[in-house]
Amino acid sequence: MAAVLLEGKVVAEGLKAKVKAEVEALKAKYNKAPKLIALQIGENASSAVYVKAQKKVAELLGIEYELKTVPGSTSQAEAEVIIKNLNKNPGVTAVILQLPVPKDIDAKSLVNLIAPEKDAEGMHPQNLGRILLGQYKIGPCTAMAVMELLESTKISLYGKEAVVVGHSEIVGKPLALMLLNKFATTTVCHIGTGERGVLPEHVKRAEILVVAVGKAGIVKGDWIREGAIVIDVGINRVGDKISGDVEFEGASKKAAYITPVPGGVGPITTTILMRNTVELFKEQVK
Ligand code: NAD
Repeated sequence: MAAVLLEGKVVAEGLKAKVKAEVEALKAKYNKAPKLIALQIGENASSAVYVKAQKKVAELLGIEYELKTVPGSTSQAEAEVIIKNLNKNPGVTAVILQLPVPKDIDAKSLVNLIAPEKDAEGMHPQNLGRILLGQYKIGPCTAMAVMELLESTKISLYGKEAVVVGHSEIVGKPLALMLLNKFATTTVCHIGTGERGVLPEHVKRAEILVVAVGKAGIVKGDWIREGAIVIDVGINRVGDKISGDVEFEGASKKAAYITPVPGGVGPITTTILMRNTVELFKEQVK
């Protein structure tokens, strides 16, 4: 039987409605709205697409949004001062550093400098640490988006065999912790797993499979366990098309649920960024 498509747009719509209602209630109670600043260093075409999407979703949800663009020639020290000033500014409730940054800028140390209470992407070590402790309301947008997709199936994760392929700091690692927090029996695969040649045997066990590698079709359709939930985070340009890390056609014949690429995880991430922004605001006004 063909798998049910897990469409990000549908999940994002439900989330947007919740966040919008929450913003309205907060505005009524505190007479102010959350304000997210996107700091962009230099011009970048891919970042421009994200910024446009962020602005649109923020406006829709009643969140104030401002893009602060500084020249590509900005030094690390100057960028640090900008972030410190945003941290101090009481009118700014959340900050995101748009990636990529110019090659001479160390993005990680700038992200670490964003005050954890204004860290809209949930990438500050303190916020990542909260995920380890299972005490978090915000988190890296893509990992949180995957959890929303899983939740939308209403299938309990308790005790399930979950396999995450990819162990990046923005997706695989935080996601593995989130799955553990839900008591899924979680395996994390990565380049070492692939190079040892044992990726298929791990994938074949997965009742919940999340793939975030960035290599088109690295997971073959016939590896998928019958009835699995398959979340494909990968975005790969193949010719003039975008495709995922999982061979969709074969996988969708075996899975119970599967995300399309594009249209799975991607449409949810911007809404999660806004939900993070609102959660940070709630803590600040408490
Ligand atoms: P990354 O490059 O930081 O990490 C890739 C991971 O894949 C690493 O853990 C690496 O060890 C693992 N890997 C590489 N080769 C492997 C192999 N042969 N076998 C097993 N594991 C292997 O990637 P990332 O930033 O986590 O992104 C992964 C993919 O997800 C990319 O395609 C990216 O574009 C996409 N992505 C999508 C969204 C979205 O919103 N939909 C957001 C973030 C990332």
